[in-house]
Amino acid sequence: METIHTIAWMKQVARDARRREHILGFVPTMGALHEGHLSLIRAARRQCSPVVVSIFVNPTQFGPGEDLAKYPRTFEADRAACENLGVDYLFVPPVDEIYPRGFRTFVNVDGLGDRLEGRSRPGHFRGVATVVLKLFEIVEPEFAFFGRKDAQQVRILEQMVADLNLNTQLVTCPIIREPDGLALSSRNAYLQGDQRRAATVLYRSLDAVRAEITAGERDPARLLAALRHAVDREPSVVIDYAEIVDADTLEPVMALRKTCYVMLAARVGTDRAKATRLIDNALIELVGDSLRVTL
Ligand code: AMP
Repeated sequence: METIHTIAWMKQVARDARRREHILGFVPTMGALHEGHLSLIRAARRQCSPVVVSIFVNPTQFGPGEDLAKYPRTFEADRAACENLGVDYLFVPPVDEIYPRGFRTFVNVDGLGDRLEGRSRPGHFRGVATVVLKLFEIVEPEFAFFGRKDAQQVRILEQMVADLNLNTQLVTCPIIREPDGLALSSRNAYLQGDQRRAATVLYRSLDAVRAEITAGERDPARLLAALRHAVDREPSVVIDYAEIVDADTLEPVMALRKTCYVMLAARVGTDRAKATRLIDNALIELVGDSLRVTL
């Protein structure tokens, strides 16, 4: 595995791979790699060669007062994990390589980026779309792998790829969870003491929605009431938003007639300043006359 720090060299390597008609697979990450990230790398390895993984804690997707400074950085362990999985190139650009002095061009995916996560984290998706477009321009991958854990992010990037006629195909991979249901996240490292157990209520509340749907409930308002009821039993967890949205428009739905997401964000921890904000979701799909719920 080769570690690359400059855009010029990364472009050269990618260009050479394409000239040899190799299928380049790309997994963008912010590091602190866990089984969720590793599942994307494995998916890329099954489908592509060479595989490029990037590690870049992207400052433009963090708002003022968010956790940019304390975001976990575990480069040596990340490098070893990538090496073990047979990653070909690890792209680790310094911040001023991606955002040199005077940088002023940003990508805005109108509408989709202002809701849900975007409402709680203004500017977040502008930062995400900008860095992903830059990385796509540098690596020019045939396939790029993302986790459904960040379902809104995937939807926004799909829109960007379509609108800007990019040549990269996005592949969405399932959510990887701990045995107790908690979705893996680099931010789980912030959870202390009882917060780790309390955090499983995100999964448990989505599972309550699944149980309601299995029992025949179809009304989004009642499904969300069941979700809120489950979360309320965990006093240290406060919902930021809980919505059932159309998978395409990300707008709230009045009925479960198309593919939808139950989107959930919550703060774990009673002290708001120190609380850990986590997100999770469930996918609801129509299969014939019945609904399939995937957590
Ligand atoms: P991040 O490093 O948080 O920017 O995440 C990099 C990629 O890993 C994104 O596509 C995430 O959606 C994906 N990812 C993060 N957590 C998980 C998870 N638990 N399961 C699957 N994919 C994940």
